[in-house]
Amino acid sequence: MLGEIGDFIVTEVSVGIFALDKTYNVLVWNRFMADHSGISAENAIGRNLFELFPELPQKWLSKKIDSVFVLRNFAFTSWEQRPYLFPFRHNRPITGGIDYMQQNATFMPVRDADGEVSAVAVTLFDVTDAAVYQSMLKQAMAKLEESSSRDGLTGVYNRRFTEARLIDEIGRVERYHHDPFSVVLLDLDHFKQVNDTYGHLGGDEVLRVVADRVRGVLRDTDVFGRYGGEEFLLMLPQTNREGAMVVAERIRFAIGSETVQFNDTEIRVTSSLGVAVYVPGSQNVEEVKQQADEALYASKRSGRNRVTFYEASQAA
Ligand code: GH3
Ligand code: MG
Ligand code: MG
Repeated sequence: MLGEIGDFIVTEVSVGIFALDKTYNVLVWNRFMADHSGISAENAIGRNLFELFPELPQKWLSKKIDSVFVLRNFAFTSWEQRPYLFPFRHNRPITGGIDYMQQNATFMPVRDADGEVSAVAVTLFDVTDAAVYQSMLKQAMAKLEESSSRDGLTGVYNRRFTEARLIDEIGRVERYHHDPFSVVLLDLDHFKQVNDTYGHLGGDEVLRVVADRVRGVLRDTDVFGRYGGEEFLLMLPQTNREGAMVVAERIRFAIGSETVQFNDTEIRVTSSLGVAVYVPGSQNVEEVKQQADEALYASKRSGRNRVTFYEASQAA
């Protein structure tokens, strides 16, 4: 059909090449297709493509092929729209989560002597490498974005990100009349003493463990950030006074009920918390933080290791 040179190229090229007639019977099936599918040319030629590969997206693919017969134009599909046609394995060691060979395909009309399209030739390109690189790039970008919003020591959000989320939430509450949210400020008690007694490394370990304990109490939608040295800010969406007080009390308990193991010593640590509710229309971001801070200060004043609600916002 193609002559000796043509046959050689079709066989040896590392691109999938096959051809189909109008009823999707296989006319040509090159070595690439045979090697990757495990179906030899002998077994493929003369058979219906969709019987050979029931897993192919038949509706979509037959439409594509029909359009080449009817319109007599080339057609193309890219891995970005549809990662693969044939579920062929690839042998890359690093895949970035891609399990099948990613494929681009070109569909070409093959004309007979009368100029009629009698077959469609398909070339299948293995573009796994490009797809893997793109996927790894995306993952790296996501990590970078993530790490710039995180605090290095504890892994919780940093101050900049936490404040941005606070402003977002105010926007949501004001625009969509969402329920109020709560702000909790948390400061560790006598932390200078922890550093003085156990050293800065001991203090750092306490901060890491405290962050883990707080995380264990929160919902996915809660925002938890490190606000300063040993001060943390929490934003609890759609949470009223009662709800926020329950969460804050759980946090206080989670932090203080167990000592922190550091080398061979046990470090005791407690926390003071201040809670305020953001009520739509009545505060701005600075005010609600200020209120939580005043409540925190009241916790410190009245003996530490406790939770205080900012009273003036109760009336609102
Ligand atoms: P209080 O109960 O009134 O809060 O007493 P405090 O000793 O905790 O007082 P304060 O909050 O002013 O002290 C914060 C201390 O936290 C001061 C600083 O040395 C320490 N600190 C801040 N950031 C870090 C950190 O990243 N690692 C460690 N180990 N210590 C830190
Ligand atoms: Mg402090
Ligand atoms: Mg402190």
